[in-house]
Amino acid sequence: MMMVAVRSVVLGAEPLSAHAFLEKLCDDFGGRMTGSAANAGAMERLAEELGRAGVRAERMPFAMPGWERGEDRVDLVAPLGRRLRVAALGYTQAHAAFEALVVSLHNGRPAEIEGKEMRGRIGVLESTTALQTSEIVALAVAHGLRAVLFINREGGGQLLARTGSFSGAPLPLPIYSIAQEEGRWLQRLLGRDVPVSVRVATQSSCRVVETANLVVRVPGRERTRIIIGAHFDSWDLGQGAMDNGLGIAQLYALTLAWRGITPHHSLEFIWFNGEEQGLWGSRHAAAQLGDAPVVAMVNLDMIGLPIGVNALGDDSLVPVLSRWVEARGQAARLPKGVENINWVGSDHTPYQLAGVRTITFNSPIPRESVRYYHDFADTIDKVLPQLVDDSGKVIGELVAMLAGEASLGAWRRSPAETEQLYVRFGLEKRLRAMGLGADGP
Ligand SMILES: [Zn+2]
Repeated sequence: MMMVAVRSVVLGAEPLSAHAFLEKLCDDFGGRMTGSAANAGAMERLAEELGRAGVRAERMPFAMPGWERGEDRVDLVAPLGRRLRVAALGYTQAHAAFEALVVSLHNGRPAEIEGKEMRGRIGVLESTTALQTSEIVALAVAHGLRAVLFINREGGGQLLARTGSFSGAPLPLPIYSIAQEEGRWLQRLLGRDVPVSVRVATQSSCRVVETANLVVRVPGRERTRIIIGAHFDSWDLGQGAMDNGLGIAQLYALTLAWRGITPHHSLEFIWFNGEEQGLWGSRHAAAQLGDAPVVAMVNLDMIGLPIGVNALGDDSLVPVLSRWVEARGQAARLPKGVENINWVGSDHTPYQLAGVRTITFNSPIPRESVRYYHDFADTIDKVLPQLVDDSGKVIGELVAMLAGEASLGAWRRSPAETEQLYVRFGLEKRLRAMGLGADGP
């Protein structure tokens, strides 16, 4: 059965389709790094576009540790001169330029670095390392390294922008992502005992930024709340079209579809800022929840075409999700059905830590596109209108089911149950490395 949305009468032009809106957002503003003028302008554009469609969006302001990329540069000095292809990790702080010898850390395992001359040098680290970023920092500090060049896991000159510090504290030494081809080049030289030196000059800087999440509320017959969130911010190197322009567009389409409708549960649609640097917007929003009656939170981060729906470890959601999957029938079947596997590192995590049940999709984006995420080539040409429409349809159906499901009540896990949610999936170490504990975001 198709749900026909009752639209409120809107004067003037029809609102842009979700994909058309995203295309303009990407091309007019580029990357939306939190704290940048582009991010603020793009969020204002979203609020305006929603306003034109009769949807009232509200800013939820908050401050967070921010970071601004400067004119950073790493130059190979010996055995030859060459500017290297690098990108500083978030929270790398400006410093006086210096030149130092390079040492290979391989994967950073104790046996691989034992006995090496490291003090005052610049370490080059393999992409295959098992170390979390905070562990890389700790290792570097313990051995007196002056900088780390972290080899990119994708080839083709790609650079993976990422945060270096989930706490938002400035990194004690500069850490750079280096193109795989150049990183391996350095490793080969070092392997032949050729002295390699580089010059590092960082102008990126950390500063507190005032930013905001954007919220649209749809009051239901009940105060019980379903939260649907997508991060609005992106890295700066590309346009953040996949990560997470997709989510911006999907949430935009959802808010338009719910115009003039009163669901059973109240709906709260949130575009979060600060996700890429450390989940700051969702941490802020989750901290504001108090004892609000929340049914569940749905996280839309890089949702391609769904092949499964994931209860993220919350067993109590599995029956209702299973009924939904069954009811969709054979033709619309999600091949993976209902999954129940927790993972950390996107905006559902702070909500989980606040005891809220969370849901996301299993929805891989094709490898030929997804390999570019966090880099220069995460651009709107990778996101086809069909993908936005088809994924939006499945997401819309799930939200419609949740919004009308009177059997679902407000529910929170106890702190002990939340702890179990991570222990069961072996995630406590990663959670702690991110500076997040099960005792609250
Ligand atoms: Zn993302």
